[in-house]
Amino acid sequence: MSSRRLIVMKFGGTSVGNAERIRQCAQIVSQAAQQDRIVVVVSAMAGITDLIFKTIDAARQGDAASTETNLKKFEALHRELMAELFGASAPAAVEFLAQVVAQLQKSSGALLALRTDISAQTADSLVALGERITAWALANYLQQSGSPAEFVAAEKVIATDGNFGNAAPDMEGTRANCQSELLPILDRGASPIVAGYSGAAPGGQTTTLGRGGSDYSATIIGAAAGADEVWIWTDVDGVLTADPRICPDATTLPEITFPEAIELAYYGAKVIHPKASYPAADAGFPVWIKNSFRPEVQGTKITNDATPWNSPVKSVTCVKNATLITMVTRRDVHPVDLWGRLFLRLGQEQVEVLFATQSSPEHALGLVLRKEDSARVLKLINTTFRIELAQGVLLPVEVNNEIAVVAVLGESMKGTCGILGRVFSAVAREEVSVIAVAQGASELSICFAVPAPAASQVVRAVHNEFCGKADFSVPVCLRPTAAAASGAR
Ligand code: ADP
Ligand code: ASP
Ligand code: MG
Repeated sequence: MSSRRLIVMKFGGTSVGNAERIRQCAQIVSQAAQQDRIVVVVSAMAGITDLIFKTIDAARQGDAASTETNLKKFEALHRELMAELFGASAPAAVEFLAQVVAQLQKSSGALLALRTDISAQTADSLVALGERITAWALANYLQQSGSPAEFVAAEKVIATDGNFGNAAPDMEGTRANCQSELLPILDRGASPIVAGYSGAAPGGQTTTLGRGGSDYSATIIGAAAGADEVWIWTDVDGVLTADPRICPDATTLPEITFPEAIELAYYGAKVIHPKASYPAADAGFPVWIKNSFRPEVQGTKITNDATPWNSPVKSVTCVKNATLITMVTRRDVHPVDLWGRLFLRLGQEQVEVLFATQSSPEHALGLVLRKEDSARVLKLINTTFRIELAQGVLLPVEVNNEIAVVAVLGESMKGTCGILGRVFSAVAREEVSVIAVAQGASELSICFAVPAPAASQVVRAVHNEFCGKADFSVPVCLRPTAAAASGAR
């Protein structure tokens, strides 16, 4: 067994966004491979997965012109990438790209001609193509520049269930695949370069892990291959106290815990996929978030036992497109039975509830969801409670599609007095009214709904209240207490 560390490095969409970026990834990998054994996972070039989804949608709707335009764009962007990395007529690159483009063209053509809907299985085989190209390109570029590397199809590594579009990993199968596919490459002294985002269903068909799933690919592989660490390379310095697009003064957090990372991701911080923390937390290795544009910056370490920092609030996040569904029952019925059935159905349909509020005397339930789930949930409510609605036991459902959810996060909020007061005073100073509120029993987060147009303003106000002057550079336990600083004994 090798004594060198095993590190899984994942490069996101902007980090592989063009030839220059891929050359930078290659430099990071080849340098790291001098000390450690490196497995690489890559995303598609930024915007490419969206482009494939758009191509499929246009074809399904019979829009031949848009399908053609999108296909041309897909081909041109990748042809330019290959030409810059390998020269305009490198036969292997030309042939590889032609095969991928033909697959997308053929399926889109069939959809246009037949005017049928596309199966989730076929869609997965197409939307995973962007990652296949960048993995091939990085592997071949590394090889050409003298750093041994081998392209590995995701289907050979990540075994999943058959839930196309949102597959769950089969860790046993993935462990066996890592042994048979990745370790021999590492033993040959090369770095395996694996396409992120996808895996193989039990029948071998391509499945995907859900949007943004390459982070998840990296930690699944990390856990299955027995990695020492996973490094997620992206376009910001780490996990920040807020989305820098909303708060340009947001600062980088040196450390956070996995529960914090999960909560942060769930409430809108795109920097790490919500599910990516689970395999790492279970296996017990740290995940680093690092900036591929500034590799010298240390980044954020996500661990099971992060040091406490001096601010109780670590981050303020927001889900900009949310919906509030309010259900009210007649006063003479006991509503808990109804809510029980509702949550059972939501669970069966795998709907993610951002938060829910219930006040018994009013017999009202507020359900806060992602906006994209709103129509599906309304349909579910109308079907499940058809009789109750007809009999007036349940009053007509109210829907507010113009809300945003702001979440204030940090493990050290637990047991700290006055946080809620400070949060809502900051919101009140902006003259924004709060529509619904929930504080998780774990006291890891406080979530509240505000009118959608006020979302950024509220995030900035709350961020300024807690993180504006917070110093995240020194952990609390290393900070001298007032008594120690004054020399008292
Ligand atoms: P990648 O393509 O590398 O996977 P993503 O776009 O998925 O990158 O995630 C990185 C982006 O997440 C950043 O550019 C930033 O705008 C956004 N983001 C949102 N909230 C945060 C946060 N709290 N900390 C860091 N980045 C955040
Ligand atoms: N390319 C995929 C997406 O855009 C997966 C990823 O980038 O993580 O969703
Ligand atoms: Mg991402």
